[in-house]
Amino acid sequence: MQATFQLMADSPAFFMGFVFIVSLMVGSFLNVVIYRLPVMMERSWKAEIAEYTGSQEAAKSNASQPSAPPFNLVKPDSTCPKCQHKIRAWENIPVISWLALRGKCSQCNNPISIRYPLVELATGLLSTLVAWHFGFGLAGFAAVGATWLLIAMTFIDLDTMLLPDQLTLSLLWLGLLLSIESPFVSSHDALIGAALGYLSLWSLYWTFKLLTGKEGMGYGDFKLLAAIGAWVGWQHLPVVVLLSSFVGAIVGVTLLTVQGKDKSQPIPFGPYLAAAGWLTLLYGDWIVEQYWQWMLP
Ligand SMILES: [Zn+2]
Repeated sequence: MQATFQLMADSPAFFMGFVFIVSLMVGSFLNVVIYRLPVMMERSWKAEIAEYTGSQEAAKSNASQPSAPPFNLVKPDSTCPKCQHKIRAWENIPVISWLALRGKCSQCNNPISIRYPLVELATGLLSTLVAWHFGFGLAGFAAVGATWLLIAMTFIDLDTMLLPDQLTLSLLWLGLLLSIESPFVSSHDALIGAALGYLSLWSLYWTFKLLTGKEGMGYGDFKLLAAIGAWVGWQHLPVVVLLSSFVGAIVGVTLLTVQGKDKSQPIPFGPYLAAAGWLTLLYGDWIVEQYWQWMLP
């Protein structure tokens, strides 16, 4: 273990290779998180509602399934949704298995979504870019971890319009704790960043709601911007908000014109916040520098 760390410290190429391989495997796990975490949340809400209302129907459905099989991030084993064929170890190698199986279940030929290998590959490549950017050390490892969390949040929000507390709050606490060592910003800036991140979107939400009666975003978005604020510091929050609104507007208008999407249909804001936060963590200073260069002749 110590020898591995020494090798990573001495050789940037070894460090990046290590991060790439580990992140491909993590990407495979993120696919599980992206699919299962919202289902787990829905189940626990239903259980809470049943407990709270104590309605007959809920009692009946509880009685009819006295012990529902466990459903969490490790149980049950992954199976083909069509034929229930258990995914074996060799069929679970990131990217490679999907290519070897040509995107089909080995038993029933049911197509396997290309999104699985793409999430794995994106996790591997983005993490390697982060490792290259920050190099071996606390900042590098921390930013790779943040990248994993942000990828999971992006896809869960795209699928379900939810940003689970388990992910947003983990990112927030991690950012605040790390700031003790100031790999990115000081604790002072991280703390103000977290508070202002939350409050800025919160006040925007209420202004918008009181004026129009509509809800433009959700509490998950406030928590995510609070978390990002803890990583990039309050000074960079305007960059995050402007970048996410800019990209969100472009994608939104494109979807409206290309797909003819309904204007009233909500568009998740989390993926844009996540992308903008990630870009700002890596290139925030550079972006601010460019901005002032263009603004000040
Ligand atoms: Zn199958």
